[in-house]
Amino acid sequence: MSSPSPTSGTIHGACGHDCPDTCSWIVEVREGIAQTLSGDPAHPFTRGTLCAKVNHYLERVYHPERVLYPLKRVGAKGHAEFTRVSWDEALADIAAKWTVISDESGAEAILPYSSAGTQGLIQMGSIDRRLFGTIGASGLDQKICGAVASAGLKATIGTGTGIDPEQIVHSRYVVLWGTNTIVTNLHFWPLVREAQRRGAKIVVVDPVRTRTADAADWHLPINPASDAALALAMMHVIIRDNLVDHDYVARHSIGYDALVERVRDYAPDRVADTVGLPAEVIERFAREYATTEPSLLRVLIGPEHHRNGAMQFRTIACLPVLTGAWKHRGGGLARSTHALQFAALDMDRVLMPELAKPGVRVLNMRDLGKDLCDATLRPPIRSLIVYGANPMVSMPNQERIREGLLRQDLFTIVHDLFVTETARFADYVLPATSQIEHLDLSPAWGHLYLSLNRPAIAPRGESVCNTELFRRLAAALGRTEPYLFESDESMLRGALASGHPWLDGITYERLWEEGYARLSCPEDWRPFANGGFATRSGKAELYSEPLRDAGQDPLPSPGDVPTGRGLQLISGKQLHFLNSGYSHMERHRRRAGQLFIELHADDARRRGVKDGDPVSVRNERGEVRAMCRISDRVRPGIAWMPFGGLTDANGERRSINVLTAEEPTDWGGGSGLYDAFVEVHPVAVTIA
Ligand code: SF4
Repeated sequence: MSSPSPTSGTIHGACGHDCPDTCSWIVEVREGIAQTLSGDPAHPFTRGTLCAKVNHYLERVYHPERVLYPLKRVGAKGHAEFTRVSWDEALADIAAKWTVISDESGAEAILPYSSAGTQGLIQMGSIDRRLFGTIGASGLDQKICGAVASAGLKATIGTGTGIDPEQIVHSRYVVLWGTNTIVTNLHFWPLVREAQRRGAKIVVVDPVRTRTADAADWHLPINPASDAALALAMMHVIIRDNLVDHDYVARHSIGYDALVERVRDYAPDRVADTVGLPAEVIERFAREYATTEPSLLRVLIGPEHHRNGAMQFRTIACLPVLTGAWKHRGGGLARSTHALQFAALDMDRVLMPELAKPGVRVLNMRDLGKDLCDATLRPPIRSLIVYGANPMVSMPNQERIREGLLRQDLFTIVHDLFVTETARFADYVLPATSQIEHLDLSPAWGHLYLSLNRPAIAPRGESVCNTELFRRLAAALGRTEPYLFESDESMLRGALASGHPWLDGITYERLWEEGYARLSCPEDWRPFANGGFATRSGKAELYSEPLRDAGQDPLPSPGDVPTGRGLQLISGKQLHFLNSGYSHMERHRRRAGQLFIELHADDARRRGVKDGDPVSVRNERGEVRAMCRISDRVRPGIAWMPFGGLTDANGERRSINVLTAEEPTDWGGGSGLYDAFVEVHPVAVTIA
């Protein structure tokens, strides 16, 4: 049933990008060529629309610069000079080199490096994990995004997720905290509007006046990384003014008395400077939040990219416990739904974690540049295989990554659709399929619908999907274990056969016919209305013994708020790129324009730069050139740059990550990407 895409017909699929919406789409195919790709009008979350990027997805599929055959480097590293070779030649060479490396240095000298380039269940991780576990290659800690927020929430409520986001329509006080919903969670926005139409107040907490902030009822422009301080001040008001749901707190939490002591020091007037809001605004926000039922905190990415990221989420998560908001339909907190989907699916059946050899090292993905350049690392990384990732744009400290990728003794393989910024440094570039050319299951992280992505067309050229790549590499390495050659359909059927009640009635056949199905979770699902938190104590942990045992502050706190000289540089996604994706496409590059930096007028004046000036943005890690935009969207002391591979004012493709550091977060394994401080100077360059 998985194979063969028909040569003509209407095929259901799903977007595999790193986006919470996981849109369901329909592809019209004629004589083996995809004619149209559009949002499924029947899907309750997609509602027939895609987004500014994926509306042109077929241009990506049929793009003339797409890599369609294996390529071997013929020029200097980083110059992107390649020649076409056969799959047999490429696989034999890779297998031979990996065998030598393993014999000489051990398989840990091979580092598989992947991320969310495709977010499907098996194409993001399955045969690759099994293969690298079997041979004993280094593991990769993939925690650059999401893991910190999840770890922070888990400390308080035992899970990184919350209520079904669709329940927002029942909320009457919605706080969009660190999320630019209109740009990064587009299909959630109509539900926010529906809640607003039914009487909800929409509040945005964000250091930047985003499009979402403009559309909200109230914007609270806090200082970056001060989210936990704001939450502590809110708790101070809630406790001081007796707005606590004492019955809920007594029955379903531990540590209340200790929390009361802790928040005594966080009166709004004492944290106003830290947070960057007047005390009376904090007072009003706290009281409105605590006295309007149901109230919902919609927390996403923003606060986690600071070194106090996990503590910020841990602290924010205490708020709906104090107010008992979890009791109400549409109340509590909503974050990624991945954990709900993965709990229902049999992930161990797919990933086979038991294959990982004990004691094999695991390297954190944020440290790629550091590890590649570390002469003391034993064994050194001698081979890197990158798939579903473009670390030369997406990871911190790009100059160090560049230095590492230029190592002559590093054997690098990149599997991608295009010669990305990372692929330019590769010894082999292997052609990858697009989402309409392979089979996958797409568990969403923004809603509860599970979609089957059926291949609509045959793989273009000689491209292969991730699973097929690793089956081929396993064969080239002489492996014979059957689990390394399991078919995609078999793995998906295995994942769906978990027996979890939320998969009742959801079969492979049904998904094949209908495209998607909502997890069989009750519509009015209130996970913690009666407690039952997934913490060690079974209660919401306002005081956390596990954190204490780990050497962390057991109570909510502001954490280690970053400080530095110059402007604090933060970033956000933009409409036309998805991380680094789409930045090779002329249409999207034109619309996105040149790399720019937004400064407040006071900061620009002090530095002698005007709107439209080319500027140098610099710190100890490097420099990018950008166009200056003077804007009241940012407050004094803060600068904002878009994320992605934009062309800078020197005509080079550069990203903000030249300036960011690998600095680890408090816990959760992430990176303080938004803790970079920069100086901005005028430069005399001619802008094309
Ligand atoms: S990127 Fe997001 S909004 Fe766009 S089509 Fe994919 S899932 Fe939908």
